[in-house]
Amino acid sequence: MSDVAARLARVRERVATACARAGRDVGSVRLLAVSKFQPDELVREAYACGQRDFGENYAQALRDRAEALADLSDIRWHAIGALQTNKVKYVARAASFFHAVDRVEVATELSRRREGAPIDVFLEINIGGEDSKQGVGVDGVDALLAAVRPLPNLRVVGLMAMPPQPDDFVPEMARPHFRALRVLAERLGLPELSMGTTEDFEVAIEEGATVVRVGRSIFGERK
Ligand SMILES: *Cc1c(COP(=O)(O)O)cnc(C)c1O
Repeated sequence: MSDVAARLARVRERVATACARAGRDVGSVRLLAVSKFQPDELVREAYACGQRDFGENYAQALRDRAEALADLSDIRWHAIGALQTNKVKYVARAASFFHAVDRVEVATELSRRREGAPIDVFLEINIGGEDSKQGVGVDGVDALLAAVRPLPNLRVVGLMAMPPQPDDFVPEMARPHFRALRVLAERLGLPELSMGTTEDFEVAIEEGATVVRVGRSIFGERK
């Protein structure tokens, strides 16, 4: 056995402590276990501890993982990485959530390919305005939302962001970006905020995260 059970328990404690500090109900934060590049066995161990939400970055990895773990029937897969339109089909089939809508083309294809229940999606925002970053710029979000909202087989539930991480990063540096994302979501009338990783999930909870995406704190360093 690995130490995933102990690590997961520790992360849950930290989530609960951050919620208490922020005066929030612990049920208002969904812990998403980011399993990218981790072996299937570790995902099974986390599942055995009651974890149900898991995230993968790459569409083919998500497809393979969902197949390998198809016996875990109530698991929820979250696609959290940018998508090329030719990979959308894997997400349409396997995922319950997609966190990285940043172009109308990808959203349109996802809606076209989706069968059954609509998929819940987040618009990914380039909240730090970085040149190299994925996500739609803050000045493009209204147009993107207007284009994506009418699509029949997806439901826009919130915003997602990865704040800048300079070499001297400390969690407090993310706070103004998390706060800006919350203000933006409020203005748009979107209830969910996907923000915070191993580096800064407690600050994200204090600033209103409804989903935190945590990988290494649960599974250890990626191979
Ligand atoms: C990898 C990844 C995470 C998790 O990062 P950790 O540092 O392992 O917690 C969260 N969100 C996205 C988009 C990622 O790619």
